[in-house]
Amino acid sequence: MPELPEVETVRRTLGELIKGKTIDTMSITWAKIIKEPDDVEAFISLLAGQTIQEVKRRGKFLLIECDEVTLVSHLRMEGKYKMKEGEPDKHTHVRFHFTDGTELWYRDVRKFGTMHVFPKGAEFSQEPLKKLGVEPLSLDFTPSYLPAACEKTSRNIKTVLLDQSIIAGLGNIYVDEALFRSGILPERQAAYLQEEEWQRLHAEIKATLEEAVEAGGTSVRSYLNGNGEMGYFQQQLFVYGRAGEPCQRCSGPIEKTVVAGRGTHFCPVCQP
Ligand SMILES: [Zn+2]
Repeated sequence: MPELPEVETVRRTLGELIKGKTIDTMSITWAKIIKEPDDVEAFISLLAGQTIQEVKRRGKFLLIECDEVTLVSHLRMEGKYKMKEGEPDKHTHVRFHFTDGTELWYRDVRKFGTMHVFPKGAEFSQEPLKKLGVEPLSLDFTPSYLPAACEKTSRNIKTVLLDQSIIAGLGNIYVDEALFRSGILPERQAAYLQEEEWQRLHAEIKATLEEAVEAGGTSVRSYLNGNGEMGYFQQQLFVYGRAGEPCQRCSGPIEKTVVAGRGTHFCPVCQP
C-alpha cells in the first residue's frame, strides 16, 4: 500500500497534470469505489462543472480541491491515476472527462480504493479524514507528541506508529525503517520508551519520510507516480524487504518476524 511518501509523490505529479482543468462529466464503471455521496449520479453531478484548484494530501489520502467541493481519494493497495492513453482497460473504473478534451483515469486492479466528495472544507470533520492523527511532516508533530499520546497505552511501538488516528501516513515500510534508524525494537512497549529514544524516533520519522519524498517514494509491487514513473527509495532501505541480508551498520543478518500482524524487519543487534 502506498504510504505518505508515495502519496505525496502522486500528489505532486497529479497536481501538475490536472490543476486548472474543469470536469465536464465522468464515467464510472465500478460504483463501490464511490463512498460519498452513496449514489453515483449524485457524485458525478457534484463534480461536473468544477475546476480543480489544488491537489493536497492528508495522511495517505489525496484531496482534489475544486471550486466548491473536495474529492478525497484513497488508493489503498493498487489504485493509480494517469492521463488517458490509448483505450481504457477493464481495470479503469473512474474516468474524469475534462472540458479541454483530456481525461484522467483511475485504474484499480484490486478495487479497494475509495472516493468521497464533500462540500469544500467539510471533508475534515467527516470520515475518513475526521479521526486522522498528526501529520508527521508538519510543525504539529513535535518531539513531545508521541510520548504524550503513548503515556497510558499497553501497545508496542510498531502498533502505535501504524495507528492512523495517532500519526497519519506511516505504514509497514516506513515504520520498520524509522524504528531501525532509531535503534528501537518494534515489539518494545511504547509506554516504556526513554526520553532519548523518543527524540531519536521523532527525528528519524521525519528524516526517513523527507528522504523518501525526495526519492519519489519506494517502488514496491505496482506503485507508480501519476506519470507512470517509479520512485527509487528502495535503494536506501535499511531493513524493509532485506531479511537475511547483512545489516548496513553491524553486518549481522536482518531478521523478519511478525509484529502487529505485519511482517516486520529489524536488526537484533542494532535494535536491542
Ligand atoms: Zn545491525
